[in-house]
Amino acid sequence: MGSPLKKQFNYSSSDLPCAGCQEFFVETDAVVPWGSKEKRWHHHCFVCKGCSAKFELKEDKWMHPSGIAESAAGFPHCGDCYHRLLSVSCDRCKQPIAGAYVDLFGRKFHEECFCCDGCGERLTSSFVKRPAEKKALCRKCVGKQAAGGFVIDPRTGQKKFAT
Ligand SMILES: [Zn+2]
Ligand SMILES: [Zn+2]
Ligand SMILES: [Zn+2]
Ligand SMILES: [Zn+2]
Repeated sequence: MGSPLKKQFNYSSSDLPCAGCQEFFVETDAVVPWGSKEKRWHHHCFVCKGCSAKFELKEDKWMHPSGIAESAAGFPHCGDCYHRLLSVSCDRCKQPIAGAYVDLFGRKFHEECFCCDGCGERLTSSFVKRPAEKKALCRKCVGKQAAGGFVIDPRTGQKKFAT
């Protein structure tokens, strides 16, 4: 280990600490300068900001099997973490949303994951928004609530007092 990496590791005195650990460099440190913000890291601190995966130096470029990308703040992210960082994730299934989505007071859903917060049935056009609770309810569930003090037992269909 070491010799092919040397080129990237040029210590130069600077008042800027390591962007990873915030410690100042000393002359014996291996320093990695990287990114458009010209931040610098100790070699052992130069890892993915999201998952701490190590990067590999190949032909003067830092690499990761999933790619390497710079965040707006100038930190390196592996491709996987960068994708996660940028993507919107669904409030119900927690998977990233690539295309169209439903935005309910900041909660985001795949169209097929947008369901009634009362009964879990898929919501299409007819539903009622509840801004205070950031919820959406289907007509049936709104009806139940409007019945006031009663809930309908889904198995028996009987009214019970809400507890
Ligand atoms: Zn460091
Ligand atoms: Zn990562
Ligand atoms: Zn979803
Ligand atoms: Zn419902």
